[in-house]
Amino acid sequence: MILDCAIIGGGPAGLTAGLYTTRGGLENVTMFERGMPGGQITQSSEIENYPGVTGEITGMELMIPWPAQCQKFGLKHDMVEVTRVTKEDNIFKIYKADDTISEAYSVIIGTGSSPRRAGFVGEDQYFGRGVSTCATCDGFFYKGKEVAVVGGGDTALEEALYLAKICKKVYLIHRRDSFRASPNTVARVKRTENIELILNAIPQEVYGDNMGVNGLKVTMQDGEIRDIVVPGVFTFVGNNVNNQTLIQEDGSFLCNMTKSGEVIVDISMKTSIAGLFATGDMRIAAPKQVVSAAGDGAVAALQAIAYVDELLNA
Ligand SMILES: Cc1cc2nc3c(=O)[nH]c(=O)nc-3n(C[C@H](O)[C@H](O)[C@H](O)COP(=O)(O)OP(=O)(O)OC[C@H]3O[C@@H](n4cnc5c(N)ncnc54)[C@H](O)[C@@H]3O)c2cc1C
Repeated sequence: MILDCAIIGGGPAGLTAGLYTTRGGLENVTMFERGMPGGQITQSSEIENYPGVTGEITGMELMIPWPAQCQKFGLKHDMVEVTRVTKEDNIFKIYKADDTISEAYSVIIGTGSSPRRAGFVGEDQYFGRGVSTCATCDGFFYKGKEVAVVGGGDTALEEALYLAKICKKVYLIHRRDSFRASPNTVARVKRTENIELILNAIPQEVYGDNMGVNGLKVTMQDGEIRDIVVPGVFTFVGNNVNNQTLIQEDGSFLCNMTKSGEVIVDISMKTSIAGLFATGDMRIAAPKQVVSAAGDGAVAALQAIAYVDELLNA
């Protein structure tokens, strides 16, 4: 059987695509998710910015009802890792780690992205409990407090500027004496009074207790250890887009990508390949939020329904 739509990834983007495709009339839709559905937000100990959800809620609690809601309308879940997606003669082939292949008329991919780790001691231990990779998600928890930002690229500096509006003070820690970010952004950072630059400094260890982070130790160029006493440490040292399934046998990508590996889409989540839609954190200019990933999933689903309808009834 050829699926009407194959959804790859079961985070907020994939699950919402599953809800809208099935409820919108596509009959054979399978979501391929290698683990439990829910996506990376399930690692978060608190989410405060999903509209309409006002109580204290963890990322896991937010996501628990999503799969059941989709299954009610007929979405099937295949718990398997997808290894490659190809397209030939209007049919997509979905290669899977269990050595089976599924076929589909359309594909909605939402395999997310993973922020790189900076590599200091305690980073994993305190991730989600004081160490964060998302100022939009977690900045508000430090309103009126001091925080540290680690990184020297555009994202690190933009996020430092964002945090400077909420927090009392931002320590911007960078291992070199100059930034990779655009000159305009660097100038804005230098003009911002509550950002202190700590340059030629390598973060060594984040420390804390059961309640969370208490500070970050950094080694300065002269070997001195500086103790930065902050409850929050934000790291922005790059992002890996989970785009491996789009890599073809010859090493090229199935569709057009940016240099940093994000999928290029238009505002309908259409990629350069007809019938292939990309959503959530993996697409170009993604806000990397649950609400926007879910929105992408809905947009892509509506497009996939129209695409399959035209393909099969033309
Ligand atoms: C600690 C933390 C806190 C956060 N806090 C907030 C917050 O407060 N507010 C907010 O809006 N956002 C927050 N975010 C960001 C938010 O989680 C993401 O923007 C959102 O989850 C992106 O959704 P997605 O569906 O694009 O991708 P993901 O959530 O990453 O889901 C992708 C899914 O695809 C699956 N997958 C990947 N590759 C394959 C494959 N080859 N085969 C099969 N399955 C595959 C993965 O297992 C995963 O389940 C936070 C993120 C983290 C990590």
